[in-house]
Amino acid sequence: MITESTSSRFAWERLALVGDTFGHRLSGSQALSDAIKWAVDEMKKDGLENVRAEPVKVPHWVRGRESLDIVAPYPSSLVILGLGNSVGTPPDGVEAELLVVKNFNELDAAGERVRGKIVLFNVPFTNYGETVQYRAGGASRAGTLGAVAALVRAVGPPGLRTPHTGSLRYTDGQPQIPAAAVSTEDADRLQRMVTRGTTVRLRLKMEAQFLPDADSANVVGEIRGREKPDEVIVVGGHFDSWDVGTGSTDDGGGCVVTWEALRLMKKLNLRPRRTVRVVLFTNEENGLAGGRAYLEKYRSQLANHVLMLESDSGVFRPTGFGFTGSPGARTTMQEIATLLRAIEADRIGPAGDGADIGPSVEAGKIPAMSLEVDGNYFLIHHTPADTIDKIDPADMAKAAAAIAIVSYVVADMPERLR
Ligand SMILES: [Zn+2]
Repeated sequence: MITESTSSRFAWERLALVGDTFGHRLSGSQALSDAIKWAVDEMKKDGLENVRAEPVKVPHWVRGRESLDIVAPYPSSLVILGLGNSVGTPPDGVEAELLVVKNFNELDAAGERVRGKIVLFNVPFTNYGETVQYRAGGASRAGTLGAVAALVRAVGPPGLRTPHTGSLRYTDGQPQIPAAAVSTEDADRLQRMVTRGTTVRLRLKMEAQFLPDADSANVVGEIRGREKPDEVIVVGGHFDSWDVGTGSTDDGGGCVVTWEALRLMKKLNLRPRRTVRVVLFTNEENGLAGGRAYLEKYRSQLANHVLMLESDSGVFRPTGFGFTGSPGARTTMQEIATLLRAIEADRIGPAGDGADIGPSVEAGKIPAMSLEVDGNYFLIHHTPADTIDKIDPADMAKAAAAIAIVSYVVADMPERLR
């Protein structure tokens, strides 16, 4: 499998084709629908079995045009990306004085001073879990105190004035105010102005809105097991992306390398004891409808799910896998991983998970794995810079081989992974 995968650029070329042809694949877009049809056809051409598109209703949010301008002391345009699922502004935008806070405590301490302001959460990136809460929850926290709009410093390390989009979540029953991410450079500029005592007035314009829910689908293909076809190893990623860039790192690459695992088995004429199933989930970014729909469809079969593996951290140089499961299963996975020493991807980390497999893993207490890589994921994802050129064909080939090997061995072992 390693030789087959690393002797060609097949995975990279397939991913390049997806990004170049369809561009972004936001839920509800024609591009995502057409990409899903293409993937079904391609999986059939690869010789996968039981290839199908399983229908899922998804939210359909559209960005429209958007801008953020300093109005006073002097006009100046800033670089922003509206946050996914945000409401828009009135056509003339909202204009207000800027208030900068560094965390939720400072927001709460500002109390009445928040009313009528545009609030910027200028929170430096530490790690994703810590910093992303300002993107997800900042708008509702500020809106509750009377702010008219919310801005968040882009959730990622400093780039080249490249903001990161991502979902926000409004709290039920609280005012919904428009919200956008500001590039780290522009957040720092606004911070410096306010620290100097300058009164800054901003105007935010956003056309963002929800259209009626759209038809979408999870794409599924299989290599049926030769002895225990009802026992299933699931591998996959999410095929939808944000509407900037081409979603190559997040998560077209994860889809292609997990799909590759099955293509390699077929190509090498390998049919394991159990079934290996690839799922290209839809709507991870702004709804998770695909992951939830998988759980609902397969709820009665979760006990037959031996392992679920997701790749959604980019397809940079693979270092191994995170794994969550019993101590015995962990020992088995560590033994299997020794097969990956030749490509230095043999580390089994403490926790395996994935947004799309999450609902099923939790409901079925299924062992979970995730591809771990060494790369600049959080610099790139959710930005216009998420394009194929950031990905090395050799890294992608190794990632595909690593996923193919662990999924094949778990599917083919005489004893079920427990
Ligand atoms: Zn993702």
